[in-house]
Amino acid sequence: MSGAPNNRPIQADSIHAWLQQREDEMAALLTELVAIPTENPPGRNYRACADLLERRMREAGLACERFSSAGANKEGSDAPICLLGSSGPGDRALYFHGHYDVVPAQSTTQFQPIRKEHFLFGRGACDMKGGIVAMLYAIRALKEAGPKLNGRIVLTLVPNEETGGEGGSAWLAEQGLLGCNGIGMLLAEPTSGVVWNANRGAISLRVQVLGKSAHVGLQHQGENAFERMHRVVERLQQFKCEVEKRSTGFQIGAEQARNSILMLGGQSGGGANFNVVPEKCWFTVDRRINPEEDLATEKEKLLGMLEGCKRDGIPLEWEILQEGNSASSGEDSPIGETLSRSISAIAGEAPRFEMCPGLLETRFYAAQGIPAYAYGPGLLSVAHGPNEYVDLRKVIDCTAVYALTAKEALT
Ligand SMILES: [Zn+2]
Repeated sequence: MSGAPNNRPIQADSIHAWLQQREDEMAALLTELVAIPTENPPGRNYRACADLLERRMREAGLACERFSSAGANKEGSDAPICLLGSSGPGDRALYFHGHYDVVPAQSTTQFQPIRKEHFLFGRGACDMKGGIVAMLYAIRALKEAGPKLNGRIVLTLVPNEETGGEGGSAWLAEQGLLGCNGIGMLLAEPTSGVVWNANRGAISLRVQVLGKSAHVGLQHQGENAFERMHRVVERLQQFKCEVEKRSTGFQIGAEQARNSILMLGGQSGGGANFNVVPEKCWFTVDRRINPEEDLATEKEKLLGMLEGCKRDGIPLEWEILQEGNSASSGEDSPIGETLSRSISAIAGEAPRFEMCPGLLETRFYAAQGIPAYAYGPGLLSVAHGPNEYVDLRKVIDCTAVYALTAKEALT
């Protein structure tokens, strides 16, 4: 549908006013959430965090279901717990989606959140517990200061996002629990003011090249895994040149960032000592595909290169660390346009739509044909960093954007 009614400006009304009185309350909830160290890897304290979130969802009047993918927990980690909270009547659903795991802290003080005026510092404040608070309060604001909705908002909160979604969103999708009757999805990742309507896919590997150990003085009896690894890396570098000539048509900050990616050696290691022929050497390969590329094809090519090395007598093995598809949603879907107009109402200007440089959980919804967008209150530049923080005024503005989008989409 297009035409005048759909393009009218959205009024930032009583909802924004209701929210602006709640900065302290929202900061207090965010402080509680940040203080629970849901570090992933390995995936700790999921139960404590899910308990708090479930309690707050129920207090906000959401009908809440709790799912745990038994068996998906790795050594040293908690069982992953997913929460689905529903508010409103009928089947049609707008999805609000967030992850409550955080990347490991650079110092334990990051789990002792500090508020300085309008800023809250701590691990996860920005990525993305601040966004979760925004989504929860958007539902509360609509209930208390908005119209009756003709449809549901479903708040889906998951762990394990930082490690690829296994046991979290990927598991929910496999179970058919994700995105049922979805008309759209909003994700609260820190997008620094833009909307991400597309994301790259990823296939990340750890490659181990094998050799035979020997004392340096008897190196003729050994087989040097490092020198073998060098030959593998050289071949992959040629492939890298080919891959990185491809670029995406989606908007993304710098021109060079449009190129497809094959990064070598994000991590590497091996060998026992400088005077021992290395028996094993390993390195990582991080292949990020543009939405125009096909994950299965690119995976086959990459693994084909490694198979070729094996055939040529280089003993090696690999482990897939993560794998996820690229995805994209048009800027002009009804939800995309509603989101854009809601941002205009609050921020004063329409947002740019860009491709996210990394993986996004929008992909699980987009794969089902549900238009899915990331827009959240934090800055990508501080996410995962030692001074992670969020501006609480941005959290409130973003909350208003979520509420206005839901109000327009579901009335
Ligand atoms: Zn995140």
